[in-house]
Amino acid sequence: MASVKLEHVYKVYENNVTAIKDANLEIKDKEFVVLVGPSGCGKSTLLRMIAGLEDITQGNIFIGQKLVNDVPPKDRDIAMVFQNYALYPHMTVFDNMAFGLKLRKLPKDEIQKRVHDAAELLGLMEYLDRKPKALSGGQRQRVAVGRAIVRQPQVFLFDEPLSNLDAKLRVQMRIEISKLHQRLETTMIYVTHDQVEAMTMGDRIVVLKDGVIQQVASPLELYNHP
Ligand code: ADP
Ligand code: ADP
Repeated sequence: MASVKLEHVYKVYENNVTAIKDANLEIKDKEFVVLVGPSGCGKSTLLRMIAGLEDITQGNIFIGQKLVNDVPPKDRDIAMVFQNYALYPHMTVFDNMAFGLKLRKLPKDEIQKRVHDAAELLGLMEYLDRKPKALSGGQRQRVAVGRAIVRQPQVFLFDEPLSNLDAKLRVQMRIEISKLHQRLETTMIYVTHDQVEAMTMGDRIVVLKDGVIQQVASPLELYNHP
């Protein structure tokens, strides 16, 4: 069970910028929620607070039944996929995917199995020994997704994961991520500024503006009453 709940969440940065103002949101277990809004509206901040990469100034965040305000990122049962992939350049694809599991001291054969399963799922089997620089943009993005999958988290967070890919690849990866959502049956929170991604991927869309949640609606509702 991994719902995500925000109660009166605020983020005020040290420079007094209020990036998130009184955010209230309940994301259901296994739901695919897309966060949209113009640049600077607070999407990334919101996601990073859920991941634990940013302190919250005020309010509460729950993952499942658990209050996670003071829980460090690695103990949150969450994995995040970044826009810039955040791959380690000196490590192979295998080691990039295995890294988080090694940190958590999983048994070696369990690591092997999880990495191979993820590589199979993502079409990366033949690239496991390569370094990131010997991969295409799409393959790098798959490695970043693979690194999240092997953790077997209850919640996936995506921060504009496709924005560095060309139009054709974006469509392909969009479909792949939607398929993954069905297959893994996990909760996914996905940040984008791409309307088409939001409308086609989301069970619900959260519209942010100037740090305030303006609207929470299904794609159909938004399409009919924008
Ligand atoms: P988005 O992801 O929607 O582009 P962000 O969450 O990155 O928006 O930023 C929201 C607001 O917070 C912006 O005004 C941005 O300048 C500000 N901001 C983001 N990160 C920091 C930071 N580390 N320190 C100060 N201000 C920040
Ligand atoms: P991962 O998420 O890669 O499986 P961890 O969760 O243990 O592994 O990562 C620990 C921290 O390091 C996280 O906050 C993650 O965002 C950060 N991190 C992971 N890869 C990189 C990278 N290549 N560069 C910078 N930070 C990274």
